[in-house]
Amino acid sequence: MASSDELDQHFLVPDFPSAYQRKRYQRLLLCFSVLNFGFTLAAFSAFAYHIFRDGKNPSLSFPCFSSAKDTLIQESLVSPSRSNKEDTGMWPATSSRSEQTLTLSPVGTKLKTLKKPVVLLISSDGFRFGYHWKVPLPNIERLLVNGSECIPGLLPVYPTLTFPNHYSIATGLYPAWHGIIANKFTDPITNETFKMGVVDPKWWLGEPIWETVVKNGLVAATYFWPGSDVSKGAWNCTLPFCHLYNSSTPYEDRIDTVLGYFDLPDDEMPSFISLYFEEPDHTGHIVGPDDPHMDAAVTFVDQMLGRLLDGLDERGIFEDVNIILVSDHGMVGTCDTKVIYLEDFRPWINISAEWADTLTPMLALRPPAELSVEEVYQNMTEALSSGMVENSEFLKVYLKEELPSRLLYSSSERVEPIIGIVAEGYKIELSRSPNKECAGAHGYDNTALSMRAIFVAHGPLFAQGCKLESFANIEVYNIITRILKITGAANNGSSGFADSVLLPEA
Ligand SMILES: [Zn+2]
Repeated sequence: MASSDELDQHFLVPDFPSAYQRKRYQRLLLCFSVLNFGFTLAAFSAFAYHIFRDGKNPSLSFPCFSSAKDTLIQESLVSPSRSNKEDTGMWPATSSRSEQTLTLSPVGTKLKTLKKPVVLLISSDGFRFGYHWKVPLPNIERLLVNGSECIPGLLPVYPTLTFPNHYSIATGLYPAWHGIIANKFTDPITNETFKMGVVDPKWWLGEPIWETVVKNGLVAATYFWPGSDVSKGAWNCTLPFCHLYNSSTPYEDRIDTVLGYFDLPDDEMPSFISLYFEEPDHTGHIVGPDDPHMDAAVTFVDQMLGRLLDGLDERGIFEDVNIILVSDHGMVGTCDTKVIYLEDFRPWINISAEWADTLTPMLALRPPAELSVEEVYQNMTEALSSGMVENSEFLKVYLKEELPSRLLYSSSERVEPIIGIVAEGYKIELSRSPNKECAGAHGYDNTALSMRAIFVAHGPLFAQGCKLESFANIEVYNIITRILKITGAANNGSSGFADSVLLPEA
């Protein structure tokens, strides 16, 4: 069997370099360090020059970069302010990206029509980073060309499943902190089971953004979001500002209701609104991310987004609303040749389906109390090293306490004692069956590029044409509280991160 280090390399890093390669890397590193020092010196000189010339911080630390030109955009920080209306029309998806000129405002724009800042947080479930390069999506393009985009995508939390990630975006907390550690799990103390659709507040820890908004004396509205239909603390899920989840509600109804909130008097208009679409996750699971049918799914989402943007345009408030379009995770293709079958473990350990809170692609096992967790784990690792388990090199099993710390997953008592992580694109099944299929899945290691989500934001405080480096989705909470100028709850986000994403107030 491969050692754990070898498996780590297999899963996470390229082949370990040879001595010759290491020397080459060391030389390259030295060159890079020298260059880096040079750039740092130049940047510091420029910074000092601006400070002494202008007597103020010229925002040189603003972390936008141009993906097209791969250069910092310090010059454009002093260019004329945001684009006028002519810049915000329909944009072809692929043609102008490499020609795009970056023009950032040094500060945000003042509200023209709205009397207060408003955040519209939209989730397109399973919108993998890069889908917007597959097919022309003029409405998403309109947002990202005139706003800020995360490249290559927003980092999901582990496990890359829908409920943990949506609730991380809403709370700024990792799943071990907010308690929704998977879409389904069992509380080891009470033996009760959580699954999607459960709205008992005892499961939902932390403070979601809609509750924070209300606690700060503002109005919040949610048109679906995992956790938003949980009445908890200061948040009561009642009409017209909260809707119990119903997947059959047409997207048009959701959008028109949200647009209607903007017709309310100023003091009744929500400062925060969430909106949720199930696509393209639904289609992605059926056909896989690379299937041509995905084009229609993402085009449909874009058309619905167009309905929303048109409605904001008609009200003259498109430029005033801070729109944050995110997804919870990506999607990767799976096929029946890439399967690990638990029946292969039987000579060592008979793993019952009842032990698995989640079967695939995260294998979360809680063996019955009469069995020793340590013994089950040992039997599984022996099976994996025996050469008798098909595709065993693509599954790595951990005792919960020994999970890689970078996953930030172990500290909740709700997390099962044995966690198996499969390689990207593989899946786990109980036994072989004649059914063969190729489809799509998510839930893998959150460092996998295929699991990357999207972050596209447009509004008064988002710089035009800004390409942000990837960041963790737990930072979104603080971005929203900063826009709304409210006090957020304690969370896992980085202090000051929102200031590095948002423009200073006009
Ligand atoms: Zn999802």
